[in-house]
Amino acid sequence: IQRESKFAKLTEKHIQYFQELLDSESAVLDGVTKDATEDIEPFNIDWMRKFRGHAQLVLKPSTTEEVSRILKYCNDNMLAVVPQGGNTGLVGGSVPVFDEIVINMQKMNNIRSFDDVSGILVADAGVILEVADNFLAEKQHIFPLDLGAKGSCQIGGNVSTNAGGLRLLRYGSLHGNVLGIEAVLPDGSIIDDLSTLRKNNTGYDMKQLFIGSEGTIGIITAISIQCPRRSPAINVAYFGLESYEHAQKAFRAAKGQLGEILSAFEMMDGRSQKILKEVAGTKLPLEGDHPFYCLVETSGSNTDHDSEKLQNFLEHVMEAEIVSDGVLAESQTQVAELWACRERITECLGHWGGVYKYDLSLPIAQMYELVEDIRDRLTKQGLLGDTNEHPVVDVVGYGHMGDANLHLNVPVRRFDKAVEKSLEPYLYEWTSKRNGSISAEHGLGVSKKPYIGYSKSATMIKLMKQIKNLYDPNGILNPYKYI
Ligand code: FAD
Repeated sequence: IQRESKFAKLTEKHIQYFQELLDSESAVLDGVTKDATEDIEPFNIDWMRKFRGHAQLVLKPSTTEEVSRILKYCNDNMLAVVPQGGNTGLVGGSVPVFDEIVINMQKMNNIRSFDDVSGILVADAGVILEVADNFLAEKQHIFPLDLGAKGSCQIGGNVSTNAGGLRLLRYGSLHGNVLGIEAVLPDGSIIDDLSTLRKNNTGYDMKQLFIGSEGTIGIITAISIQCPRRSPAINVAYFGLESYEHAQKAFRAAKGQLGEILSAFEMMDGRSQKILKEVAGTKLPLEGDHPFYCLVETSGSNTDHDSEKLQNFLEHVMEAEIVSDGVLAESQTQVAELWACRERITECLGHWGGVYKYDLSLPIAQMYELVEDIRDRLTKQGLLGDTNEHPVVDVVGYGHMGDANLHLNVPVRRFDKAVEKSLEPYLYEWTSKRNGSISAEHGLGVSKKPYIGYSKSATMIKLMKQIKNLYDPNGILNPYKYI
């Protein structure tokens, strides 16, 4: 792709405008005048270190009014921008492609209100997910989303990507939990739809378009969200299984026996756990190697009742030889240790140099077939092996089994065109043939832009483009990305 000539190039005059507008040196970070105290590089490069932009300017507004004035100025002057939250996105959507201005939301980090009767939280978009969750913990509530990047990602970024994460099985998606948003359109107009109503059938539900739109139609500046009561009893079990077939049986049994207290069901293949052990030096909770592992979490209001249920479930799956071995967390520290076996996989996979990451929705029964198919394919093509000549280290699969969401990851020694060609569009075709989705929760960003047609029809893409043009007629918001 080429830089679009319709966009203006940044000048001293523009920078001066922003400096006066934002009135704080740390709010304008620019590489043009070279007097910035903070390095601009981290804002230009994504979490996977796969996508690198060349922004010369990063703006950090503190108020919705500032976002509005920035966007209006950019729109009037044809300056392209990239909204950025915690920059933990996994599809290259949060960094510039060329010299787009980064609008980073980290300074908009206030909790605006919390109502402990309804459980409704209203907060700025730049609040870090973990900060929001810790705040809610003090009020015996929980943020209905949790994911491995919680220490860095922002709730506005979560809503913009419609992140799914570890609690979706229990609490549902952000499309159901977000009650309202405040957002700024490119022309500077502010959409004030920070509703705190659970029910509001008054025509089109505009906020839904922003949820998962990846910064292409407006900048979200605040959200209101329904937060459940925090369950006092959290129990976690981790077990090893002989095959993927057994993992499916265990999931079926968990739904049947744990019912309303089941809050997460995660699957990890043996290879992902082996990599965790080798790279992070983690001692795995079970002795020996198992081809598959599952993590089950229950959350409820009565510790004794829940422990008994989970214990009975474990006894049943062991007796029925569905699981080969299992362990039950006996303290909060152990709960965290067992969760780390799932949550730390992502960071370990990058150890050799890079990772090709895929996040697919597939029928549960066929989810792991794809991992095996890709492993065979790369091996046969001579791309996967133990030596430095082979770019691919391994192919691993893990994910939110309860949501039929597979994370297929290909850790590599170096990014390599031959590997990319072997994987894409092959695995998107594979997914489309089984009526799956090429992105279950990470979004499309720049990395899946060419493949949108595998999950959306031509009519749907046309409608999406019309919506984009309606909200952002100059196309200044997150250009070159999926739309
Ligand atoms: P960024 O990465 O900064 O931005 C993501 C996109 O949203 C970009 O297109 C950006 O332009 C846009 N954006 C950001 N903020 C705004 C805003 N205020 N207004 C408009 N647009 C905005 N995802 C899951 O769904 N489930 C997981 O389990 C999961 N686990 C992860 C684990 C790890 C270790 C990592 C690194 C990532 C994981 N992710 C997961 C990816 C996930 O999408 C992001 O972590 C998170 O939702 C993005 O939030 P962010 O603030 O970092 O947004």
